[in-house]
Amino acid sequence: MNLLEDFWLPVFRSDGSQTKIAPWQIAETDNPVIDLAAPRPDFQGALYQFLIGLLQTAFAPEDEDDWQTCWKEPPTTDRLKTAFAPLSTAFELTSADGPAFLQDFSMPDGEQKPLASLLIEAPGGKTLKDNLDHFVKGGQVEGACPSCAATALFTLQTNAPSGGVGHRVGIRGGGPLTTLVMPQNAQSTLWQKLWLNVLNCDDFDASPEDFSVVDLPWMTETRLSDKKGVTTAPGDVSELHLYWGMPRRIRFELTDLKEGRCSLCGEQTSELLTHYRTKNYGTNYDGPWSHPLTPYRVDPKGVKPSLSLKGQQGGLCYKHWLGVSWQDKSDGDTAAKIIQHFNGARARFIARQGGVRKIPIRLWCFGYDMDNMKARCWYDHQMPLLNVPDAYRKNFVDCVHQLVVAAKDVVASLRGQVKAGWFDRPADVKGDTSMVEQSFWHATEPLFYELLHQLSIQPENTRSLPPEIARQWVKTVRGKAEELFDEWVLSGNAEDMDMKRIIKARQLLSKKLHSIKSLKNLDQIAKDCKEVA
Ligand SMILES: [Zn+2]
Repeated sequence: MNLLEDFWLPVFRSDGSQTKIAPWQIAETDNPVIDLAAPRPDFQGALYQFLIGLLQTAFAPEDEDDWQTCWKEPPTTDRLKTAFAPLSTAFELTSADGPAFLQDFSMPDGEQKPLASLLIEAPGGKTLKDNLDHFVKGGQVEGACPSCAATALFTLQTNAPSGGVGHRVGIRGGGPLTTLVMPQNAQSTLWQKLWLNVLNCDDFDASPEDFSVVDLPWMTETRLSDKKGVTTAPGDVSELHLYWGMPRRIRFELTDLKEGRCSLCGEQTSELLTHYRTKNYGTNYDGPWSHPLTPYRVDPKGVKPSLSLKGQQGGLCYKHWLGVSWQDKSDGDTAAKIIQHFNGARARFIARQGGVRKIPIRLWCFGYDMDNMKARCWYDHQMPLLNVPDAYRKNFVDCVHQLVVAAKDVVASLRGQVKAGWFDRPADVKGDTSMVEQSFWHATEPLFYELLHQLSIQPENTRSLPPEIARQWVKTVRGKAEELFDEWVLSGNAEDMDMKRIIKARQLLSKKLHSIKSLKNLDQIAKDCKEVA
């Protein structure tokens, strides 16, 4: 199967039908494709990145004018076919002895593994041995069709966690977050969804003319990283490694292809792939790689290297909004390059195309929550992206920061007092209280985004948090914290409750909610509101 020529990408068209297309069909205008239809959410994220990487490699716009032209009028299928053609030789999924997509250039030997091990949640050998695979059941995946096998391979290479001695992590670390710019309207075309995430050549510091098919990591000998080997930093290889990183040495086994049903999508195939070979000490990415689709934590002093943001236990919520969509000065979290680029000229252009009301844009954030080598779960979250004028941006971000800091302070108190209500010696009790925190983030999220919208449309010369916004926020976070305390602490078995302990914790919570500095600041601002009124 050739991944640039054959029909392998599962998609939905605008009439609701599901089919498989070749990449050059992504911008068809007759019954256009509106979304990918991968059989798993991590595959969906991976296929988006596959196509974005392909456009960036073979069809990147020269400048923003060029980008805008293709936004207004998508390229024809012939134009895309011509653009992708020079890369075709690199996108054969299987090959007896030549190069094969995202697979090691020359690897005649290696440890044989079942195809299921390609999946990121697959238990490692040791886990199976220790019979610890409660979360991830082993042995359910017998084989995959070429379409799912290609996607699983891309998913692993782009997200690779450490896989034991010498099995290297992905170019942005193990299990990174990915953030994409998405039109809110699900009916918008796949072309629009992809094109919003392609940088122009001025911004990616390279154009398709600078790339050659041999720059793809699997088209030459792998840069081994064993004792005699090397690390691979930016400048050692093409920038293309960012989109096509290949930390793992893998080759699909072709000797046992058989007829069968794909365990992942359920389709019948005559080429069921069931095994692959792998070896350690593949490309060891090191140094300041910065992936355009991933947010990073940047050291404000510029001393420590930037680290990609990862999925975390407790999930994604609006407390991450500043860090993934602009910049969070409290921890240095900084939006991905593609989001930063959107927040500039591109957001203004899209707004002019029919006003923000017609084409609202969202940020789609996804990634695994990895516990070292194991995937605990998959997070998928959508957040608003706002068009804020340059002159107001700094003050806008400061205002949002005030709201988030207050909410974080409330969460800390709520968590502490819920534990104090539950246990005699809360400090000695370890355990996951993330569900208490999540309930607070969830309960206050609708108002947060509503206030965010209100903040974004304030006059450009707004210098501080508007009193009415401060008033609504402080009232809601306090009220929700008390409500949730009651829910969590009083919902247990009445006989097990120590009411004296509970009342004490509840009183302390109320006291804290009125003494936390960030909330008192909001009170002060809200008071001004009444005085003005
Ligand atoms: Zn399949």
